[in-house]
Order: sequence, then C-alpha cells, then structure tokens
Amino acid sequence: MSEFRFSVSQLLQEPTGATRHYELDDALLLVDETLRIQPVVGHVRLTRTPKGVLADVSVRGCAELECSRCLKVFEQALEITFSEEFFQTVAVTTGVRLPPPEVDDPFLIDETHRLDLADALREYVLLELPQAPRCAETCQGLCPQCGHDRNQGPCACVPEISDERLAVLARLLNDQP
Ligand SMILES: [Zn+2]
Ligand SMILES: [Zn+2]
Repeated sequence: MSEFRFSVSQLLQEPTGATRHYELDDALLLVDETLRIQPVVGHVRLTRTPKGVLADVSVRGCAELECSRCLKVFEQALEITFSEEFFQTVAVTTGVRLPPPEVDDPFLIDETHRLDLADALREYVLLELPQAPRCAETCQGLCPQCGHDRNQGPCACVPEISDERLAVLARLLNDQP
C-alpha cells in the first residue's frame, strides 16, 4: 500500500478547479532496491481538470547516498517539486472506459479512481540525484595507493603518478635517434 495513493473519486465528481490538500509526514519512498527516501515530508494539492486531476507536489526527503570520492554513506537532502496531470481512465459515475489521453507516457488514475504519486516521485527523485554524490564539496577522497580516507588526514604514501609520467617521458627522450 503506497502512502502516496489518494482516492479522487469524490474530486472527480466536482467541477474543474475543485481542489484537495494533503500533507505528507514521514512517508517512505522506495526508489529502487538500494535507494530509499525517508522521511518524505511536504504538501500535495490535487486540482480537478477537464480530463483528470493536476497534482502539485512540493516535498522534501532525505536519501542515503554513497560518496563517489570517499565511499562513505551520507544523508543528502532532496527537494522535489512538480506539477503533473493524472488522467482519468474510467468515468466515475458510469464506469465507462474513457479514450486514452493524447500524451506520451501519461500518468493515469486507476479504475478504482485512485491516484498514485509514487512513480512520478521516483522519476523526479532520479532527476534530482547528483551523478557523482559527494559527502561534502571539500571531500578529499581516498588515497589511490593505500585507500586511506584523506579526510582523516594525510597518509604516508608518496605521490608516484607524476614521477611515473616523468620516467616515461625520460625514456621516450632517450629513445630518440
Ligand atoms: Zn566523501
Ligand atoms: Zn596512501
């Protein structure tokens, strides 16, 4: 049972422009097997449109991500705001199936007149997530030689990369005729 599912059967019987307001408080959104957003807190406004219901969603959530530099798990705050129309599939009073909306990948209100925001939330969470999460702007990452977390201070390793490059360059120069 999704905490993001709302019954809109009453709202669908009201005129265009009618609204409902809901608060989300400590909801849990599973984005995939590894990513959960919790708590999801915020505001949902549902407005009757000629073909369904417009959902205006403004929520905050907290994601546990792994830092791409030091691999530490940290909490990333997310702000998710969107407006999406959900289309009616069945007429609420007669139960007659309605023609499909002329929209690519529409969000649909199900046959029991319930609107589920979970898929839309997942899509917007994925858009918000950083490609390379960082625990802090200043994260120093791990030493490539010994794996030491440089945020804890320097390790004993001597940087070798530049020396290797110089050695290769020296060999190339020596090979010149
Ligand atoms: Zn980090
Ligand atoms: Zn090191």
